[in-house]
Amino acid sequence: MSALVVGQLVAKHGLLTAVRGVSFSVKQGEVLSVVGANGAGKTTLFRTLSGVHSIDSGGIFLHDEDISQLPAHQRVRKGLAMVPEGRRLFVDMTVRENLQIAGEHGRSGSWVLDKVVAALPALEPILNKVSGGLSGGQRQAVAIGRALMCNPSVLLLDEVSLGLSPIAVEGLYQSLEQLKKSKETTMIIVEQDLNRAIRFSDHLLCLLEGKVALSGRSDELSHVDITKAYFGLE
Ligand code: ATP
Repeated sequence: MSALVVGQLVAKHGLLTAVRGVSFSVKQGEVLSVVGANGAGKTTLFRTLSGVHSIDSGGIFLHDEDISQLPAHQRVRKGLAMVPEGRRLFVDMTVRENLQIAGEHGRSGSWVLDKVVAALPALEPILNKVSGGLSGGQRQAVAIGRALMCNPSVLLLDEVSLGLSPIAVEGLYQSLEQLKKSKETTMIIVEQDLNRAIRFSDHLLCLLEGKVALSGRSDELSHVDITKAYFGLE
């Protein structure tokens, strides 16, 4: 069963069409990587899925329900949560407070504070720290924790490893691997590291100038084909 189905999505920035008829679906419990060069439309796509950018046409179906006209907060309540690039946190609040507030805005379900901390062990030692003083890796763990507190059935992760140290990235992906194994949460990720994107995901979608240039099972696509699609080479 598909957790998310996207059909012929079009999204614009003024006169510029950033997403040009993108279609894909993701099965429950699977991971889809969205890759593409700078400006390919990845962030715009994510923002239209989460509801912070409106669509011009097309459909977004979460568990068969058309959510494409719902405001962002209602999509979160229905189970679609996003970890945005840049991970905005309430910097004056502690990590625990950041997580608890997020929990008030999502669905009800099994993701409570203890379970989130177990899934993201980096959070345990910093629960009572003020978020403003955290390292990049710690802030990212909090941002993912906040999204999990909303009990998402589909989790959108935009550039989770951007600007993090290699050790922080490793730690983060260990947690995400566990999340993937549990099959509880469907994930759609944007990851700049192409090799990591291929390894971590079940399916890959490559965007080029707002269109799907290539899609398929990550273990069946050749590296050469992905690179060609990525750069728009013949
Ligand atoms: P990056 O990897 O650099 O974040 P991306 O694949 O996420 O790129 P988008 O940020 O979605 O791509 O950008 C797609 C297109 O839309 C680009 O041509 C970009 O210049 C344009 N664009 C993005 N945001 C805006 C905006 N706020 N106003 C006008 N044009 C925009």
